Amino acid sequence: MPARHVFVMDATMSERDDGDVGDLVVIGGGHSGLLLSLALARYGIRLTIVDADPIHRVSTAPFDGRALALMQGSKHVFDALDLWPDFAPIATPIRGVRVRDKSTGGSIAYDADGVGGIFGYGIETRSLRRKLLELTLAEPAIRYLSGRRLQSLRRSSDGLTLHLDNGQHLQTPLAIGADGRRSALRRLGAIGTERIDYRQTALTFAFRHSLPHENRVHEFMSEAGPLALLPIGPNVCSVTWIEHPSRAEELVRTTSQDLLEALRECQDDVLSPHEILGRPVAFPLSAETARSFVAPGIALVGDAAHGLHPIHAQGWNLGVRDVAALTEVLVRAKAAGQALGCGETLRRYARWREADARTILGLTDGLNRLFSTDFAPAKVVRRVGLSVVNNLPPVKSWLMRRGMGVSGDLPTLARGERL
Ligand SMILES: Cc1cc2nc3c(=O)[nH]c(=O)nc-3n(C[C@H](O)[C@H](O)[C@H](O)COP(=O)(O)OP(=O)(O)OC[C@H]3O[C@@H](n4cnc5c(N)ncnc54)[C@H](O)[C@@H]3O)c2cc1C
Repeated sequence: MPARHVFVMDATMSERDDGDVGDLVVIGGGHSGLLLSLALARYGIRLTIVDADPIHRVSTAPFDGRALALMQGSKHVFDALDLWPDFAPIATPIRGVRVRDKSTGGSIAYDADGVGGIFGYGIETRSLRRKLLELTLAEPAIRYLSGRRLQSLRRSSDGLTLHLDNGQHLQTPLAIGADGRRSALRRLGAIGTERIDYRQTALTFAFRHSLPHENRVHEFMSEAGPLALLPIGPNVCSVTWIEHPSRAEELVRTTSQDLLEALRECQDDVLSPHEILGRPVAFPLSAETARSFVAPGIALVGDAAHGLHPIHAQGWNLGVRDVAALTEVLVRAKAAGQALGCGETLRRYARWREADARTILGLTDGLNRLFSTDFAPAKVVRRVGLSVVNNLPPVKSWLMRRGMGVSGDLPTLARGERL
């Protein structure tokens, strides 16, 4: 990996002001921080990223089977930034989705023929971050501070002074929080959150199977939560399996052979799994949304703004739309000669994004409640609802387009257009 602009600070360095950080600082070099930085750099905005993970940990991370579904609307952002050729080789197209409610026997099938042929792509999470990092390190407008944590901040008339854990100071008019669900910048900026605890745990791992996936996602709904199989390669799927926490604990500890048996049972053996790849990793589930996406001199993107339940695969897709919207308002502000951290610019971003995030939070939370219950009236709603939607093409098409992120008040980049 090229490392031209990397600064790995020595923890013994004395406290000092670090001079030119560019136009702004991004805290967090996960998927959201890296994509945002690449997008801003593409439009001539210079910046510094601070990320807690050392680069070698990202570039040598072992396969863990975790993957995400990148929807077509997000792919449009990659297209508009000319990034897709770098990601196409690690992306498996999704052309269909089959959902089955195990307790009522109801089902619904979506095919992408009427909506452009592809819903989205299955991408291994680790490879996605690695590729984003590789492109970031090769970008002259981006300075990358690796293995450093934001620890505190001070406001002044000039903007913000960010204090890192090695004693370094960064002075900036605008800090962007892309530092995930437990965002330090959000906390230090005194932005409150609303939290929902789901008392569910998601397990992720991958498996090899004998029957072809035919580029289809299979989702099985049960009272404990959904189990989704996402194609990520020839005869390889990634699993997101939501369970009661105690059952999830058992599955994490069980042998690969027993896990394989349990998987076969839960997914009606549609793909005929024959080998577990890696070990399952468990994520206790919650939703955590910032009460405001901005504060003076601060904007939040991705999971720092909204961590969602993984049902319906919306989490990072929402983050990609944050990236597209924030890039648009900042590039337009710069072109108009406005200060990047100016209140009106940040409020425009917040108004645009908070509404979308509220809608998707309501949708994912509502779907999880509706499907993760044995309550008889909910089962009737599920059975009737699935059958009605399956037989009403306009409703089905609306749902598909919304899930794909290609409808609504989209940022320019999310329509696949350049700014
Ligand atoms: C089981 C599961 C399945 C999912 N499936 C999907 C899916 O199919 N589709 C989808 O769109 N989304 C999905 N998601 C959600 C998706 O994984 C996240 O939305 C996405 O990875 C968030 O990226 P991020 O960059 O915003 O945050 P993170 O990945 O959390 O990155 C935060 C970064 O900030 C850094 N950091 C943290 N604190 C500091 C600090 N103080 N100083 C400096 N740096 C700091 C961290 O090192 C990290 O690099 C799923 C999530 C789960 C758990």
